[in-house]
Amino acid sequence: MKESPQSQNLDKLLRSSKLVSGGFMGDDARSVYEIVDEDMAELSKLGFTTKHVAERMQQITNIAVSGLGTWVKVDQQRQAKVDEAKGRLVCPWPHPGRFDKRVTTIRITETDETIQWSDLNIHLIAEHGFFEGRGSKFRIEPKELVKTIF
Ligand SMILES: [Zn+2]
Repeated sequence: MKESPQSQNLDKLLRSSKLVSGGFMGDDARSVYEIVDEDMAELSKLGFTTKHVAERMQQITNIAVSGLGTWVKVDQQRQAKVDEAKGRLVCPWPHPGRFDKRVTTIRITETDETIQWSDLNIHLIAEHGFFEGRGSKFRIEPKELVKTIF
């Protein structure tokens, strides 16, 4: 499929460091739509929707906020914490609204495995099905995420 000028602009913006340092794409050579398609296919194979996943991420962040930077128990298997950072991020699509720069870390207590996300990650997954490109700082593998948060 021939890509529209708009989608080419989006791709360019996502690869630049204009909105976040290092950009959203890492060293992923695929187009943003290829990345979204593949991650959506993976997620549905696992039996989850982006809504379901994003809601759970938000829920974990909301629980963790109360710890003010320390670990908070989410359930028997999991802890989470939120690190606040100054500033806000915008959605590259674009979307109105600003997203706090805070980062949530979830940890499986037994194995010490962790995954991190920002508030913008939650929005990108919920609204755009975008888990970021491979090699980007906040790339989240759908499979790892599902395993860690559910
Ligand atoms: Zn958006």
